[in-house]
Amino acid sequence: MAGKHTGYRFGIIFVQIKRMKRGLIFITILWMISSICMGQQKPSKINNGIDRPKLVVGLVIDQMRWDYLFRYADSYGTGGFKRLLKQGFSFENTIIPYTPTVTAAGHACLYTGSVPAVHGIVGNDWIERDGEKSMYCAQDKSVNSVGTASKQGQMSPRNMLSNTIGDELRLASNFNSRVYGIALKDRGGIMPAGHSANAAYWFDDSTGHWISSSYYMNNLPSWVSEYNDQKKPDSFMKTDWNLLYPQSTYHQSTTDDKAYEKPLNHEKQKTFPHIYSTQIGKGYFPIRQSPYGNTITFDFAKQLIQQEKLGASGQTDMICISLSSTDYVGHRFGPNSMELEDMYLRVDLELAQFLQYLDKTVGENNYLFFLSADHGAPQVPDFMKENKIPAGNLRNPQLMKELNAACAGKYKDSLLVKGIFEYTIYLNMPRIDSLQLDVNAIKNTVLSYLKSKPEVMYAFDYAAFDKAILPANIKERFANGYFYKRSGDIQYILKPQYTDVLSTGTEHGTWYNYDAHIPLLWYGWKIKPGKSNREVYMTDVAPTIAAMLKIQMPNGSVGKVLLEILQ
Ligand code: ZN
Ligand code: ZN
Repeated sequence: MAGKHTGYRFGIIFVQIKRMKRGLIFITILWMISSICMGQQKPSKINNGIDRPKLVVGLVIDQMRWDYLFRYADSYGTGGFKRLLKQGFSFENTIIPYTPTVTAAGHACLYTGSVPAVHGIVGNDWIERDGEKSMYCAQDKSVNSVGTASKQGQMSPRNMLSNTIGDELRLASNFNSRVYGIALKDRGGIMPAGHSANAAYWFDDSTGHWISSSYYMNNLPSWVSEYNDQKKPDSFMKTDWNLLYPQSTYHQSTTDDKAYEKPLNHEKQKTFPHIYSTQIGKGYFPIRQSPYGNTITFDFAKQLIQQEKLGASGQTDMICISLSSTDYVGHRFGPNSMELEDMYLRVDLELAQFLQYLDKTVGENNYLFFLSADHGAPQVPDFMKENKIPAGNLRNPQLMKELNAACAGKYKDSLLVKGIFEYTIYLNMPRIDSLQLDVNAIKNTVLSYLKSKPEVMYAFDYAAFDKAILPANIKERFANGYFYKRSGDIQYILKPQYTDVLSTGTEHGTWYNYDAHIPLLWYGWKIKPGKSNREVYMTDVAPTIAAMLKIQMPNGSVGKVLLEILQ
């Protein structure tokens, strides 16, 4: 019995040791899990001990003028723009240091810290000097669409010559940090995400799906396909677009129906409600021209953060989001429309929800957030005239006809001007050569004609840039925007508030402040609240993130670090 008892006792001790062992293993596992979790919670433990945030979030609001931060403030809530203004740092005088102030150049500039003279994105479209072919900024016929049978996926960042802050983050982490770009507009997601991005996603008008290109992947991840299968754009289009609040509360707009507003592509009338439900099944372009374009962009961004577990890997990840619908609607109705006021009230609410989402998933102060714009927009010319402020327009197609007629009168050929993009004139050089015409004489004819136009303030030949008489800081913006192999030959500058739209809607692209003065807000990880009225530039964003993250600035960056926000 004793033996049995002894054996029993040894048995108990053995079992107890075994249990202790199990307990120890259990405790060890718990300790390991908690260490990993603590590592995720404490930014100082990630990125191999370098102090960095879990996630960098860039939000570009396409065509957002700086004054929209305050213009609609009465009706903004406390969790969106006001939260960023109160708890973050605002640079109130952020300027785009180049022309043309357009979407592709703006997105490239914010994330490369560079200017078109270096990154080569001189516009949304241009004519290549070598070969004289028209080029779209993100066009890449060597890649295939992924996620659609349409050609809308044949895009990549290859035309952008310098790299982005996302590329530098990838390089600094030996490509362990993950970088994504999303926007309805391909260029709004592709340029920011950079060359080595894990993916960029944009919107396909034929299917209403988020798509990509073979530059990034061979097939959409299954979560993207499943997301697309939900057909969310259909459900948003069913709801149409009504004002969010009673019409009498829209104090910052003209009346709803103005002759100088341009109807949406699918509508004839220009007033609320804007009807989308009749367009279901006819393609998804209308969603771009609706506030729901922003809704599905934020929704997809949340899904991406969740599915790709951004900010949870122990390396700093980055997501570059751009809201495109603000631009589509802005072009149609202009800055003083009820449509735009309603749009920004909705953006404010959706921004608040997105920040709350980031707080919950990534953790407050674990993400570095910035908000800016790719350019602003002028008032609609006829709205200004209605209020006795000088304004006007000069249409490109009409101007091109007139210039070719002026040249034909002298040189007996009516095709010497090839194109006009962003207020620059491309001469038809191969034709001028083959006809053995004097290019300088043609340039003089074009310049004289331009200068004779009442809408034109000044015009100059880029080959004689040193002779152009302009205030130094304005002249510098033209130099910053000029890239020999892609830019035009002759630049013309319209008078302030003159645009190249016909008589309805608006168009940006100039150096003037309505186009070049943008918001720049910083919030979150290591950002102290405050504001500055010092003149800073769009090019300063990328080098500032580089300084905060202790990574190299992008290779073409010409900006300066915004010292005010550094702790
Ligand atoms: Zn834009
Ligand atoms: Zn635009």
